Amino acid sequence: MPHRPYEIDVMISAKTIAARIEELSREIEAEFSDTDKIVVVGLLRGSFVFIADIVRELDIGVEVDFLEASSYGDGMESSREVRILKDIRGQIEGRDVLVVEDIVDTGYTLDHVINLLESRKPRKLRTIALLDKPSRRETGVRADWIGFEIPDEFVVGYGIDFAQRNRNLPFIGKVRFTDDQ
Ligand code: 5GP
Ligand code: MG
Repeated sequence: MPHRPYEIDVMISAKTIAARIEELSREIEAEFSDTDKIVVVGLLRGSFVFIADIVRELDIGVEVDFLEASSYGDGMESSREVRILKDIRGQIEGRDVLVVEDIVDTGYTLDHVINLLESRKPRKLRTIALLDKPSRRETGVRADWIGFEIPDEFVVGYGIDFAQRNRNLPFIGKVRFTDDQ
């Protein structure tokens, strides 16, 4: 599979992403205006570029923590079974938390992470996903903020990989196989 030849077509440009992050940041600031400092929980690894951009756009106090959940492995299909590979370091009880995800697909990952973090009794827990594929949803979960709704395409770039490649592209691109299989 990793050796099947493919090309990447631009789906969302770096400029469009940056403009959307500015808009979303104003909404997030308003939602957390009564808080001294929020805890941004980034879901590794796909959201690392998004987290970096969003925390630099936010004009409120932020702490950054990371959680890694597995679902896709190196393939192109969700396993539906979510495992926590790396938990956050900090305490979130009584705190305001923003979970940052790259893509909500079936929804199993975000659903699992929300349940886990809610069990630790934060004061407020909100979620943001850069991309949403609503047509793929198998759970009732929805992020509070979404950057872009996209169709059921396999995407890469802006932190998101295909078998650990293409994370460093500055835009969101869609994978197009060129061997006609
Ligand atoms: P879910 O649990 O919602 O099915 O899966 C969410 C996770 O699947 C995302 O965090 C992301 O890591 C991965 N994912 C979903 N769609 C894509 C995609 O188009 N490309 C890549 N590389 N990963 C995806
Ligand atoms: Mg992910």
